[in-house]
Amino acid sequence: MFRGILIEKNDDQYGASIKEIDEAQLPEGDVKVQVTHSTLNYKDALAITGKGAVVRKFPMVPGIDLAGVVEESSHPDYKAGDNVLLNGWGVGEGHWGGLAQKARLNGDWLIPLPEQFTPAQAMAIGTAGYTAMLCVLALERHGVKPSDGDILVTGATGGVGSVAVAVLAKLGYSVVAVTGRSQDSVYLKHLGATEILDRLEFSQPGKPLGKARWAGAVDVAGGHVLANICATMKYRGVVTACGLAAGMEFPATVAPFILRGVTLAGIDSVMCPRPDRLEAWQRLATDLDLEKLGQIGSEIGLDEVISSAEKLLNGEIRGRVVVDVNR
Ligand code: NDP
Repeated sequence: MFRGILIEKNDDQYGASIKEIDEAQLPEGDVKVQVTHSTLNYKDALAITGKGAVVRKFPMVPGIDLAGVVEESSHPDYKAGDNVLLNGWGVGEGHWGGLAQKARLNGDWLIPLPEQFTPAQAMAIGTAGYTAMLCVLALERHGVKPSDGDILVTGATGGVGSVAVAVLAKLGYSVVAVTGRSQDSVYLKHLGATEILDRLEFSQPGKPLGKARWAGAVDVAGGHVLANICATMKYRGVVTACGLAAGMEFPATVAPFILRGVTLAGIDSVMCPRPDRLEAWQRLATDLDLEKLGQIGSEIGLDEVISSAEKLLNGEIRGRVVVDVNR
């Protein structure tokens, strides 16, 4: 038996609770992992509270990422004792995930834990931080350089935002952080933001084009925020869009794209091909200060996950939440 969070749905009743689960119930897979750490991502909070249609099969163990030690493996790349890491691939949505002491997984989904990180540090980065790095890599791939001007990061005190601010600043970019939590200005400055703007400046409907301000952007919000960012990009600026914290819609015009040559680059971490994942984790190992990571991550035990999910969706949590599943 092992402890884990289980989401169940019976008739109209949707609920998450901590359960003792029989190992025989673990889903199919060629690698069994003793999970040491998982995290609470935005998507996990939607799954646990039932506020988003994340879970595709019931009962479900949530947790879209995990770090741990291989217990058994018939996969050629892994043997018992290996430290491994997993992000995405529908884990915690359609296949039992990381918010439990054990997981059985497809070995092709795993990557070796980079030696620079402990499992807890890797989970302080988690899917949010790895997505932030995918955004940075997309900015680089589209040719955005520090000398081109300011990079805007929305949801800056959240998981994706915090890591994006820290990495971009370390790479020499001038980072303008957008936040609804002005009380966290010192935190954002410490991560490397040069300027902090109120989220309200971006959240109302705006004009098709505004003053050209940003060379690049990392947006976790969507909705009017994303539309206003596109409208205020510099000529040939690049916007990476990865989130929907402000909404799923995109109430924009084509003006920024056809008049300023703006690029809108979509970022998906879930089905991201393995070489790109390995590159992102390798770059995190070199381009994210561990001291700053220490500021970004806080740790809870499995018992605190369900109450924290509500808080995360209410914007009451700063940075990343690491879950020690054995605590
Ligand atoms: P967090 O909850 O940690 O951070 C989200 C942040 O967004 C909040 O902290 C807040 O930051 C800001 N925010 C909240 N509400 C609004 C709003 N109405 N308008 C503008 N900003 C808002 O989540 P994550 O950082 O983990 O994830 C951010 C988004 O990215 C989510 O939508 C998530 O689903 C998505 N995501 C997508 C991935 C992908 O593969 N595409 C992978 C990982 C995440 P502040 O208070 O500083 O403004």
